[in-house]
Amino acid sequence: MANLTEEELLNIFKKTEALLSGHFLLTSGRHSNVYFQCAKVLQYPQYNDQICVSIADHYRNVEIDTVIAPAIGGIVVGQEVARQLNKRFIFAEREDKKLTLRRGFSIAKGEKILVCEDVVTTGGSVFEVIDIVKQAEAVLVGVGFIVDRSNGKVQFGVPQKSVISLEAISFEPENCNLCKENIPIIKPGSRKIL
Ligand code: ZN
Repeated sequence: MANLTEEELLNIFKKTEALLSGHFLLTSGRHSNVYFQCAKVLQYPQYNDQICVSIADHYRNVEIDTVIAPAIGGIVVGQEVARQLNKRFIFAEREDKKLTLRRGFSIAKGEKILVCEDVVTTGGSVFEVIDIVKQAEAVLVGVGFIVDRSNGKVQFGVPQKSVISLEAISFEPENCNLCKENIPIIKPGSRKIL
């Protein structure tokens, strides 16, 4: 399957309401004119399949034993990339706020690992998974993720592939032009106008 163009991908994000425009209150307390929720697009297997082709193709000729992702958002991406590459897939989940391998999952010394994630903003969860890989003395071959919200600022120190870059733009409430225009603000997820 051919890789999606940026325009095709943005159309899918809009059609599935993964990407909304308006006036939003983010969990950080900042305001934004766009809101992105990756799960809204990945709920459709055909889109997950089409989007993950870019990541799978990028690493198709790289030797990989296992794909790993941080729970929760990364799981559908990691599982799909692993399926397309026909590799083992495992995930790390939070225990006492720290990402860890549970359910009998393990990584062997020297195992070649690809880390997958849905959205990278600060890269915190991916860096935590990279630590798990390093502690196991496995070989990190790369990182693949769908959306780069860092504008390329987050670098993992190994080959990395993002499908699209959507810079996260937000404002302090007191400097928000949408507030100045008295446009009602929405808290995403609640659908409530505040
Ligand atoms: Zn505002």
